[in-house]
Amino acid sequence: MIVSVASGKGGTGKTLVATSLTVSVENSQLLDCDVEEPNAFLFFPEMRLLDRRECSVTVPQIDEELCVHCGRCSDVCAFNALAVIPSRVVVFPELCHGCGGCLIACPEKAISEVPRRVGWISRARSGDHELVWGELEIGEARSTPLIRDVKRHAKGDTVIVDCPPGVSCSAVESVRDTDFCLLVAEPTPFGLPDLALALKMLERMSIPRGVLINKSGIGDREIYSYLEKRDVPVLMEIPMSREIAELYSRGVIFVERMRGWKERFVNLAERIRGMSG
Ligand code: SF4
Ligand code: SF4
Repeated sequence: MIVSVASGKGGTGKTLVATSLTVSVENSQLLDCDVEEPNAFLFFPEMRLLDRRECSVTVPQIDEELCVHCGRCSDVCAFNALAVIPSRVVVFPELCHGCGGCLIACPEKAISEVPRRVGWISRARSGDHELVWGELEIGEARSTPLIRDVKRHAKGDTVIVDCPPGVSCSAVESVRDTDFCLLVAEPTPFGLPDLALALKMLERMSIPRGVLINKSGIGDREIYSYLEKRDVPVLMEIPMSREIAELYSRGVIFVERMRGWKERFVNLAERIRGMSG
């Protein structure tokens, strides 16, 4: 089973939930797809790094000796990643989606592909858990190839995917092909529009979903009635707690210290297994 842990907006406690679920379920694997700021591994200080390698995409390279500046490559590029000026072809690698269209279109075979690094992938082991995370290169705009690469490592009975917040391309790529999505939300009116968008995204992708309310006890009941009306189950609530916040700020997974919580997360995982697609 692959469970994505997502949220409509940042700061709701997604990583707290993903790491808690990981340490509660034996032999589970954690994939951190929040590649712009991966931080789940920080909660596993005893981890042993297994490997770290580059993640690259291919971008076009123009052989100006062969190019006749006909402009066909720039005409076929839907992403405006090529511009043909009288004296040369300019490539904007950060806009290229690696579709290969320009290679096919070039009548002079003046285009070849070269690799361009977009980030790094690391793998580590902590007890019976494997951790995999991606780190996007600074200034890099396209995160989806790196997220796809992280997800290629998925293996084992229970895989937990820590997703980027929101409903951007990177969030869509992270939840894609997961068996269930657990949305983490706070019970305040501010997060409701973002949660509604995230639920719509999951509906469009036909991914079974449920909500975990973090910091319950603050805010109001609006989110509960919203979810009830849409028949979205609330699978767990974590109360607003100074102790949990303090443990989190010290990089400690609260279920490791606070009695009864691991069992609750094991039950949550079992319930999710029963609801998975
Ligand atoms: S299609 Fe080929 S020959 Fe034409 S401008 Fe592009 S690189 Fe040059
Ligand atoms: S590979 Fe595709 S996206 Fe990239 S420059 Fe060529 S046509 Fe454009």
